[in-house]
Amino acid sequence: MILQEVKACTKCKIVKPYNKFSPAKKHSTGHTSRCKDCKNVDLALYYRSEEGNKERKAAFKKYGTSVAGKNSFFKRRKKYETTPKGKLAKKKWDKKYTTTPKGRIIANIAKAKYRSNKIYAIPKCLKESDFELIRMYYQLANYMTEVTGIPHEVDHIIPLQGKNICGLHVPWNLRVITKSENCTKGNRICL
Ligand SMILES: [Zn+2]
Repeated sequence: MILQEVKACTKCKIVKPYNKFSPAKKHSTGHTSRCKDCKNVDLALYYRSEEGNKERKAAFKKYGTSVAGKNSFFKRRKKYETTPKGKLAKKKWDKKYTTTPKGRIIANIAKAKYRSNKIYAIPKCLKESDFELIRMYYQLANYMTEVTGIPHEVDHIIPLQGKNICGLHVPWNLRVITKSENCTKGNRICL
């Protein structure tokens, strides 16, 4: 029978087996002088202090911006979004997000894609670089809106739902014009 090695904790003075102590190379026994339970109590007390609270918040913030922290956040959020309460919250978040500049671009791209998909206006031969170009048109429209203060939109030179001819949702059929121009143009072709 192998005897389990034990030692006394310097704080609570209770004799405990080595696995109740964290490994520490610096110590002669290879383990910390205080047991895990005592260390946890100390740590909890420390985090309740002003200094400890600050440190914990900073560590939490740092973790939140790390890749692992972000992944963990999205995982928890995804799970939350499946609950009834989470579903309502998601709707609220989505609505708020579309009011931000970045959210607006994404919403516009999604809307355009939805419309185009509906009438099969995206040819299958489009490459990823073409989609990148399409995204750039939407970013440009958003940029023009911000810089000039006049609402700009991405326009299909040959309309997707024209009277006699249907254009495609492809980079070479796109241009950025003001919203009012786009409204007066309607489904007509203006070259
Ligand atoms: Zn102890």
